[in-house]
Amino acid sequence: MATSLVESQHKENPFEIAQQQFDIAAEILELNDGMRQILRVPQRELTVRFPVTMEDGSVRVFTGYRVQHNITRGPAKGGIRYHPAVDIDEVRALAMWMTWKCALVNIPYGGAKGGVVVDPKDLTRRELEHMTRRFASEISILIGPEKDIPAPDVNTDAQVMAWIMDTISMHRGYTVPAVVTGKPIDVFGSLGRMDATGRGVSITAREAAKHLGVKFDEATVVVQGFGNVGGASALLMGNMGAKVIAVSDVSGGYYSSRGLNIPAMQQYVRDNRSLVGYKEPGLEMVSNAELLELKCDILVPAALENQITVANASRINAKIIVEGANGPTTPGADEILYDRGVFIVPDILANAGGVTVSYFEWVQGLQEFFWTEEEINERLERIMVRSFSSVLDLALKHKIAMRTAAYLVSVKRVADATTIRGIYP
Ligand code: NAD
Repeated sequence: MATSLVESQHKENPFEIAQQQFDIAAEILELNDGMRQILRVPQRELTVRFPVTMEDGSVRVFTGYRVQHNITRGPAKGGIRYHPAVDIDEVRALAMWMTWKCALVNIPYGGAKGGVVVDPKDLTRRELEHMTRRFASEISILIGPEKDIPAPDVNTDAQVMAWIMDTISMHRGYTVPAVVTGKPIDVFGSLGRMDATGRGVSITAREAAKHLGVKFDEATVVVQGFGNVGGASALLMGNMGAKVIAVSDVSGGYYSSRGLNIPAMQQYVRDNRSLVGYKEPGLEMVSNAELLELKCDILVPAALENQITVANASRINAKIIVEGANGPTTPGADEILYDRGVFIVPDILANAGGVTVSYFEWVQGLQEFFWTEEEINERLERIMVRSFSSVLDLALKHKIAMRTAAYLVSVKRVADATTIRGIYP
């Protein structure tokens, strides 16, 4: 087992992880050196530092980023994250993963990501709006319906997208709905977008269970993170018959061997902003570290990167891991889990439902013609099932991990497009 001591001692750099994952695929695909140089690094990176006047009259300068990893297959696409731990390497990694994700589900986008170094809990709503609008203004040189289309990520939501859309529309002097996705329905958002990532997670979890002969309606599920992705994944997997025995948010884990009341927990979060203080009969508290090691059939990490590492991979007690979050498992942990026979549905496949319905939202916005929720969910189901089965077939054929197989499909698509287009000039 080639796990380094260094990895277990400090948080790994997500961009180095993304590059390691790419290198594995590049090696198997026998990409030439030029192609590796092109695809290993982001194409464009913008760092912005911008002032916001706070409610008390003081001025605070924020740092934000927008990175476009690759735009060979279409406009750049990727979320915007507000978090104190945002840095350029995290945004680079997330942008690169977006390139592979869009290629894997075969939608005509490149990959991008953005972020602001901030804990939004420290801001009033007015300050959050001003910061968002000024950030949108700063990155307006990059974004646009035909260029780069942001969406929600950690700590950003439909309201934040509405402010960005309005800011860009004010600059242009007319309404530009397709500049962002994940907008509220009232301003040209798409039906089904709110729970699309969780829906994709639950579809791929169901397909993985089917493949392994695990009965979904008898399966136990643990979910880390109870936001947009974790909350919808828990709800939908519960609706599909699985028993969700534990969920967590940043405040800690909530466990019940009888199965949790997920709709009640979601309502509690809507009313109280977090799960702190949530109570139901039979509930026990566990730490986030303990939660990841609970015995279950399906574990869904849906919070942040670097959660399953060489430090805890040997104690993970799940048959299937479905990566709702981006980058929750490090390459060292991947090896340990593969050797232990744990089946991983990798992030670029498992959480691709979000960008897929974002694509539907963008198409609807450009055409000003809106689809029904049934149409959206049917198309999403078709794309997720098709993508899962093409990755699984390749994994079985070459006896490789699902992550490696997913990278082979997506990196090859981007490399082929690059070759066909040629190098300008
Ligand atoms: P969110 O802000 O809606 O929710 C994040 C959740 O994680 C919250 O419940 C928060 O309390 C919890 N959390 C934060 N730090 C934690 C920690 N250390 N331990 C346990 N829980 C913690 O964010 P989201 O949109 O649900 O995104 C979650 C993950 O899914 C991210 O990796 C994101 O990049 C990825 N993702 C999101 C989308 C999307 O459509 N929103 C799509 C694809 C992937």
